[in-house]
Amino acid sequence: MMGSASLYLSTKVARVLGAVPGRSLRSLPKPRGLESYRSLRNLRTPPIAAGMEDEAGRKPAPPALAAFAGVTRSRVSTSAGGGPGAGDWFELSPSSVLKLQKGDITKWFVDGSTDAIVNAANERMLGGGGVDGAIHRAAGPELREACSKVPEVRPGVRCPTGEARITPAFQLPVSHVIHTVGPIYDVDKQPDVSLGNAYRNSLRLAKENNIQYIAFPAISCGVYGYPYKEASRIAISKAKEFSDDFKEVCFVLFSDDLYRVWLESALELL
Ligand code: ADP
Repeated sequence: MMGSASLYLSTKVARVLGAVPGRSLRSLPKPRGLESYRSLRNLRTPPIAAGMEDEAGRKPAPPALAAFAGVTRSRVSTSAGGGPGAGDWFELSPSSVLKLQKGDITKWFVDGSTDAIVNAANERMLGGGGVDGAIHRAAGPELREACSKVPEVRPGVRCPTGEARITPAFQLPVSHVIHTVGPIYDVDKQPDVSLGNAYRNSLRLAKENNIQYIAFPAISCGVYGYPYKEASRIAISKAKEFSDDFKEVCFVLFSDDLYRVWLESALELL
């Protein structure tokens, strides 16, 4: 399974690079300065800011090409390892890519105006641990203030499990934060439905707000205990459902284990 998926991916990557469809990626000439063909897929990650040049003096790709070739100005912290901007990308449609990156989602951005990160929040929406805490710390106290103004649907609940809410991002480099609440795996009666709803409602709300670039953490895969494999399949399937609606759907994975599982599922499903 993995072998044929990898071959399929290679064909897709080769097609984007202008190679003959069906020809193995390994038969392409090796680009100068790249360590391996795995690195070939990292070509898309140019410098962090517009106007900056990379070490080889190349300018970032212009936005239209960026959208097609998966080259954007997004970048994540490499605290989890893997080199600057390390990751993998997959074509969702001719104008949309799904990216996997390792690192800290609070550092992710594309243009600061049509980009958003998703927060794995709790129903109260006033901050918490894990990625929620990291996002609130990086965004500053205005984020909590904005969240507190989201109306409660019942006492103590601003965003029920599976739903999503949007706020500005304040000190974060993106324009918006979409807050969603994933299921607690051992408590929710239908965790797969709730997790699917959390992804779908986040994507729907992003689309309604003209977001073009969106990044997700592994919702529910921390203290909420969702098994990585099942979660990754749901996450990638939902991104696929919105393949015409975003220039980029990115999963920013915090650990090597999460990254490996997401990559396996992407290879199987895309
Ligand atoms: P949940 O309550 O939905 O399980 P957690 O915050 O506990 O939320 O974890 C969700 C996922 O976010 C986990 O896989 C965790 O490793 C990851 N995570 C934690 N901090 C960050 C961060 N700064 N950037 C990206 N992912 C993060």
